[in-house]
Amino acid sequence: MTDTDLPWLAAPLAQWTTPPRGHAWLLHGAAGDGALELALRLAQAWLCDNRQPGGPCGVCASCHLSQTALHPDLLLLAPEAHLAEHPALAAWRAREDAPDGKRKPSRDIKVDAVRHAIDWSHASASRSQGKVMLLFPADAMNAVASNALLKTLEEPPAGVRLLLVTDDPERLLPTLRSRCQRWRLQGPDAATATAWLQAQGVAEPQVLLAAAGGLPLTARAWAAGGLDAAAWRALPRQVVRGAGLPDLPPPQWVAVLLKLCHDAMAVAAGAPPRYFPPGSVPEAVSLTRLDAWRGALLAVAAHAEHPWHAPLLTERLLAQAQAALRVK
Ligand SMILES: [Zn+2]
Repeated sequence: MTDTDLPWLAAPLAQWTTPPRGHAWLLHGAAGDGALELALRLAQAWLCDNRQPGGPCGVCASCHLSQTALHPDLLLLAPEAHLAEHPALAAWRAREDAPDGKRKPSRDIKVDAVRHAIDWSHASASRSQGKVMLLFPADAMNAVASNALLKTLEEPPAGVRLLLVTDDPERLLPTLRSRCQRWRLQGPDAATATAWLQAQGVAEPQVLLAAAGGLPLTARAWAAGGLDAAAWRALPRQVVRGAGLPDLPPPQWVAVLLKLCHDAMAVAAGAPPRYFPPGSVPEAVSLTRLDAWRGALLAVAAHAEHPWHAPLLTERLLAQAQAALRVK
């Protein structure tokens, strides 16, 4: 794990390190708030040789194995794409075979992986603190994979705990949800998140925090990827001029344009923008046109799994945005 310094995770970590009786938990929280980091820390705490309140000791052999993704009693079920993208999964990524460049990494937790996990759960624990199966994000299981897990979720082998992480429990099968005790991770308040981003070296953190919809880890990732507050502030007018889309991976363009569309609608209706700084969003002439643009963006978003032909897509998205944002 790379991140043990997310201060807002200390309280939930302390609270859930000694969980109530049970064997299956659903952690409801956003990755951009640190839900994955919390889940990894909890798994480490549950397997720690020096079981202690407050969190893992961080120094025992078991903690070392957890931190290096080598603990034989800790199994992570995550899609290839998440392994490839998520900074907190760097140690896990290192143990996987390098993906061949030809195939797009899967965004699903496959039924084969679930079956393998079930087999794993039946083997006896290697160390003395039981076993932990971590699913991130749990909603990456389709119905077949979910159904394969049901029986294990209801009645796992002795000593096995399951921790399912999702930012949207409604996307899980109801039968899956009902078998878990639910925890809700509240993200940090704006002041805590802003102070944390500042300590991470992010300039004008409040601008990027709003840009990321209040999710501090997302804001930090964007900053690390080269997006700064000035570029974000300039983005709406850059789009209106047809001068290009933000310096982010193409799959994030649609999400950014949806934020711009949201704010343009807010401004057109006389309300303050939510994602962009006040004054940066031009006043569009037609709410009807903005509404049609929103529909078009949602249609593209629904196909986000398709291959991205970046130049064509850029042109199309820009043309749509320019038409919708036409100003007085
Ligand atoms: Zn330990």
